[in-house]
Amino acid sequence: MQQVDTLIHPKQILTQPGHVLHHHSLAVNGGKIVGLLPTSEANQRFQAENEYTLPEHLLMPGLVNAHTHISMNLLKGLADDLKLMTWLTDHIWPAEAAVISPEFVNEGALLAMAEMIRGGITCFNDNYFYMDSLAELVDQVGMRAVLAECFFKFSTPWSPSAEASFARTEKLIDFCKTSTTIRAAVFPHAPYSTDIPLLTKIAAFAKKHDLLIHTHLLESQMEIDESLKEHGKRPIPLWHELGLIGKKTIAVHMTHVDETDLALMQESGASVVHCPESNMKLSSGVCPVQKMLDQGINVAIGTDGAASNNDLDLFGEMKSAAFLSKVFTDNPESLNAQTVLEMATINGAKALHWDNEIGSIEIGKAADVIALDLHNVEAMPCYNPTAQLVYAMPRSNVTHSWVNGRILMNNRQLTTIDVPALLKRTQVWQEKLKVHAK
Ligand SMILES: [Zn+2]
Repeated sequence: MQQVDTLIHPKQILTQPGHVLHHHSLAVNGGKIVGLLPTSEANQRFQAENEYTLPEHLLMPGLVNAHTHISMNLLKGLADDLKLMTWLTDHIWPAEAAVISPEFVNEGALLAMAEMIRGGITCFNDNYFYMDSLAELVDQVGMRAVLAECFFKFSTPWSPSAEASFARTEKLIDFCKTSTTIRAAVFPHAPYSTDIPLLTKIAAFAKKHDLLIHTHLLESQMEIDESLKEHGKRPIPLWHELGLIGKKTIAVHMTHVDETDLALMQESGASVVHCPESNMKLSSGVCPVQKMLDQGINVAIGTDGAASNNDLDLFGEMKSAAFLSKVFTDNPESLNAQTVLEMATINGAKALHWDNEIGSIEIGKAADVIALDLHNVEAMPCYNPTAQLVYAMPRSNVTHSWVNGRILMNNRQLTTIDVPALLKRTQVWQEKLKVHAK
């Protein structure tokens, strides 16, 4: 008998969208998947310290939230039903100015991580401020993450200069050397909030440290008009010249693309992140996801921050992505369930350059997996698990979550976050922030 850390015996294992194994078990050791085999064989071959028998459950890869601002969770519902720039300049930025600090960042992040784990997300791609301090908290909670300090052309008390943001990023890079589940990136905020000197420095820094470049791109027509007026070029050709569009680029939103933009994205191997609910809520337009996928561009899916969504529910986001595409293309065959589930798993992993470790259940990959209870009113009957996950699965059906083999949720109980204490502190923040609410 081989001794392993964990054995999981579910009813079904969805190794990747469309591929289901019945009566199989998963063996995990040292954070890695070391066995994927019929349960009867698993019981003969492995002896585990922790064993989970889940006779009514589906085990699947953890979801990858490819774009979010988790610390903005404390601003959830602060101002709704406004235009993007009114929402940002009249509500979100003044509220941030009043409270932002490492403490605010960490408290919002903890609330968001609790929500994400409860909703089946095991990995997220985040950007905000004080990321050097947030990294330690994310590591304690145990989620997998790519973290990026946000860069603006203007100075604020919480982001005083590019030099300060580079210094925080360097501290973050040092921290990541001690962690197997956290990586660093850079985040130039958007074309309208950066300038050429700053973008040039960011491109050189990213190249030197071989970092992912995560950014908001082509979210509004205003952004394109300003770029044409100032530089005589649309943002993507300009950023491409500056060395910011390449295989390590993650471009979020992309609701105002033209054919040249798509060709540059495809040639360079950059990834796109679709945030359908944020785009719908802020009337930012529609990202032509099916067209991008047909052109060979990798498209992942993200929730965006809770301030513009207002939840971090990737199951809801998958359903919205599918439905939005069907309306947008006038074709019910576009963005089918399998494609959307790939966007939320393996495509997210590819965007983060982490697909050698996560995004599917395979021997040798990290054990980033979740279990869902299929024996309930919402989930039954279930003819096709992939379609059920996209079209009819409430996130509350997620019962267990493991990241790198460590259990983060056991039968709906979070193991690394004290939820009652978190809720008490959230109440205190609500009292502080309510003066800024619309
Ligand atoms: Zn965003």
